[in-house]
Amino acid sequence: MSRVFNFSAGPAVLPEEVLRTAQSEMLEYKNSGMSVMEMSHRSKDIEDILDEAEKDLRTLMNIPDNYKVLFLQGGGCTQFAMIPMNLMKNKAADYIVTGQWSKKAAAEAKIFGIVNEIASSADKNFSYVPDLSSLKISDNADYVYICQNETVHGTTIRNLPDTKGKVLVSDISSMFLSEPLDVKKYGVIWGGVQKNVGPAGVTIVIIRDDLIYDEVLPFTPTMLKYKTHADNKSLYNTPPCYNIYICGLVFKWLLKLGGTSEMKKINEAKAKILYDYLDSSKIFHGTVEKKDRSFMNVPFVTGNKELDAEFIAAADKAGLKNIKGHRSVGGMRASLYNAMPVEGVHALVNFMADFEKGRLK
Ligand SMILES: *Cc1c(COP(=O)(O)O)cnc(C)c1O
Repeated sequence: MSRVFNFSAGPAVLPEEVLRTAQSEMLEYKNSGMSVMEMSHRSKDIEDILDEAEKDLRTLMNIPDNYKVLFLQGGGCTQFAMIPMNLMKNKAADYIVTGQWSKKAAAEAKIFGIVNEIASSADKNFSYVPDLSSLKISDNADYVYICQNETVHGTTIRNLPDTKGKVLVSDISSMFLSEPLDVKKYGVIWGGVQKNVGPAGVTIVIIRDDLIYDEVLPFTPTMLKYKTHADNKSLYNTPPCYNIYICGLVFKWLLKLGGTSEMKKINEAKAKILYDYLDSSKIFHGTVEKKDRSFMNVPFVTGNKELDAEFIAAADKAGLKNIKGHRSVGGMRASLYNAMPVEGVHALVNFMADFEKGRLK
């Protein structure tokens, strides 16, 4: 067996230790005589797995008691619809558009009501985060929406917008548990787990109790009401039990490593290795304004498409996988999620330096 360094943006690398635990419990979970995949979602074992996962996530994120934790399906893209369907009382919301994912969220919300794009960085291909400190918030906005880490464009919002008291909704898919966040500042904070937390198929929604309405937009299906899942502890229908179990193992791994403040230190240090190299390189360049650079997703280019392609192919051969940038940005992108070991970043930077030397000879 030889595991590669996988820089995929998602689904992405998982901690080897977690995969080994899952492997050892694959045929028989504890003393159940069966795999987690084979269990009824009404069984005590699954109930315990869900309870334990929620408890550990609450510890990791310091989630206040007046927030519910929901384990849902349908991926991030379903949240783009669920959020307006559940929260648009006045049929209006303010969106801050800083990249592909907030752009998609805003476009979906337009199906349901008025969407005001109150800030955007589209003018420079989403390579920065606009100043969010004194935005004009719409009087009738039901919420203000952000994507806190733009996976494709590689930016992070480090200073939350002043929402003038309006509910803040944040998509944290690609920075989930990568650093501490103050949950109290948000009404809804959510993420698909396949970037930084677990296998595709689970979306975690953390929502303040008073935002779980009985009355939602007309024609909202039962499955798309937060209340359905909140009232049934994420067991209204069959949840993705096995995937939640893996998320639970990842939570335990993170707790053992020291939680999100420790992860922030590690992630910052890992990203710095790559950014420092990019800033000193004569052929590779980062594409994002320095102050807004993501610690999770690092896009970079050579400025020459053929050279990019040559580099991607050579890196792939060297076991540095999935380094190709998103088709909308081109170039390269290295995702440095929690489970990417620092050795992977060193291997990448060394490989880039060698490639550069060969080129400049
Ligand atoms: C991947 C991603 C999504 C979409 O997730 P799907 O599960 O593929 O629908 C949404 N937001 C962000 C920030 C993402 O990285």
